[in-house]
Amino acid sequence: MPEEVEKVLADAAPEEVQQEASARIESFSLAGTKVCSGVAFGYAQQLGEGELEVPHFSIEKAQTRAEFTRLRAAINTVAKELTELLENSSHGDAPPEAIAFIEMHCQILKDESLITDTQDIIRDRLINAEWALSIKLEDLRRAFEELDDDYLAERVEDIAQVVERVQRVLTGRRRPADTVTQAMRDSAVILVAEDLSPADVLILKRRRDISITGLVIENGSLTSHTAILARSLEIPTLVHVTGARERIENDDVLLLDADRGLLIVNPETELLPRISNRIQQLKAVRARLKELKSTPAATADGEVLHLFANIALPEDVRDAVNNGADGIGLFRSEFLFMNRPVLPSEDEQYETYRRVVRSMKGKPVTIRTADLGGDKMPSNQALESIGYDAGSAVVNPALGQRAIRFSLGFPELFLTQLRAILRAACDGNVRILIPMLSRVSEIQIVTEYLKKAQQELKDRGVPYAQKVSLGGMIEVPAVAISLPIFLRKLDFVSIGTNDLIQYMLAVDREDASVSQIYDPMHPAVLSILSKTISTANRAGKEISVCGEVAADPIYAKLLLGMGLRNFSMDCARLLPLKEKLLTYSAAQAADLIKRLRRCDTCSSVRNIVHEHLLACGDPQAKELAACLVYPMPQAKSAAA
Ligand code: PEP
Ligand code: MG
Repeated sequence: MPEEVEKVLADAAPEEVQQEASARIESFSLAGTKVCSGVAFGYAQQLGEGELEVPHFSIEKAQTRAEFTRLRAAINTVAKELTELLENSSHGDAPPEAIAFIEMHCQILKDESLITDTQDIIRDRLINAEWALSIKLEDLRRAFEELDDDYLAERVEDIAQVVERVQRVLTGRRRPADTVTQAMRDSAVILVAEDLSPADVLILKRRRDISITGLVIENGSLTSHTAILARSLEIPTLVHVTGARERIENDDVLLLDADRGLLIVNPETELLPRISNRIQQLKAVRARLKELKSTPAATADGEVLHLFANIALPEDVRDAVNNGADGIGLFRSEFLFMNRPVLPSEDEQYETYRRVVRSMKGKPVTIRTADLGGDKMPSNQALESIGYDAGSAVVNPALGQRAIRFSLGFPELFLTQLRAILRAACDGNVRILIPMLSRVSEIQIVTEYLKKAQQELKDRGVPYAQKVSLGGMIEVPAVAISLPIFLRKLDFVSIGTNDLIQYMLAVDREDASVSQIYDPMHPAVLSILSKTISTANRAGKEISVCGEVAADPIYAKLLLGMGLRNFSMDCARLLPLKEKLLTYSAAQAADLIKRLRRCDTCSSVRNIVHEHLLACGDPQAKELAACLVYPMPQAKSAAA
């Protein structure tokens, strides 16, 4: 990340930026909450509404000609746009990689079969051009995947980007990322958005032709799925930046200092040398952290720890390996089901899981069955294909048909996923994790489905794992309270604190307006976590925490003191946490937890933690408010 920032400074022609910054009249700053640390410097680009979904509708036979014409016209428009972009970039300072991508995209558009095959689909199925393009893309994906070649597999993503561009033109919708592409001449772009759906973040994550160096989100909360995914983009990100959309204009010069929760708009030129210093510091930190990659995680007093990675996409596994993860503690498989008109087949899922499992070379890979529902919905077309009524209103998504409830509501979808996982489990150490358990009977039903999936594979003569560890997520307070009953039926458990806290405190994790009272330091939360961890430890069942707090250095110390030894987190946060844990004493952390048992308010918890950090000479003591994931002075009165 610091390298990127440094490149940003070089590529963005600092003198030019400096002149622009100083020529502007209004320099002001906005505050936000850090989601991903670092410093970014670049031009603002406002992002439109995050709706990137493709419309699907049937057409009459007589309309096919008109659809052909729309398709050809849209392809010509995109080809023209790209050619213009190339012409503008060739004598400018656009990075050569970006130019190469645009050239490749032009080649893809020139391929006549893209048009003729899509026309065949329109004619045969009597559907609109946008939809037909999606089907063509899926066909291509399948064909490319069969080639079992990583390089070619990546090329299909280029085709996907071209197809998406054409679909945007067809729908006449403003495409947020297109604005960014036009700004590519400047290299350094900081996106400013009201909010991003998880689906949008996924699309940004997969785009390689744009250079986004920072993200500013006006709404959003720290534990929203958007924020979690944004973190995996590994660029400095702030959420909850009130007024960002209204006050920032395209091409404003932005300095985003995520660690300080600060966004400076059109900074004074005197600030620039200081930015440069910060970048150097960050670079040194990164180099130091890399050296810890193969150091085993342990406390200073010799307690052995395991640090696992949370991933959302199969390609994230590379980051897990590069950051020395002890395994995948949470593979949020639901993201494989989003942003596509057709749900992934058993074979496609199998290939994906197998890729991750092989990359981890025998280390555990914990695949969470799809946590769909709530804000993580497949496309309407995909939903319709499984008989889900996409038009029906969901009263309260977080309490509705989500996670395992969703899977059990659509047995064929669930069985397909289980078969794919069981097949991939032949290639390594795979474990299955059930999201949002709330009843023991759910485990029994899942076990039955697992047997059924095994039988189906056996009947087909396909190799599969006879035994796979089955774990459950502790996200619903009822499970934490009656844990021993669940532990008897499970091989391991993982605490999803993001949801557990939401359900315990009745605070919507996606709702920025109540994020002030979403407080992991609430004494009741600490108490339930502590009891849960010791109950699992006493029962000899593996327990981990895979919610966001596991990566927070101060909160991780509390978890350590409660007896936790397995932490799972976003790849980018793994080495910074390891560095801290190596200095902690598990015995001292346990003493701290004993003292916290006497606290009855959030503020008294914070005060005692603060005293403890001071006594340990931990530099984070003075940053306590800024360092804790959830600094909330108002929470005192709310929880007191
Ligand atoms: C959690 O709830 O803590 C968790 C890890 O799951 P997710 O954030 O995907 O809901
Ligand atoms: Mg959860």
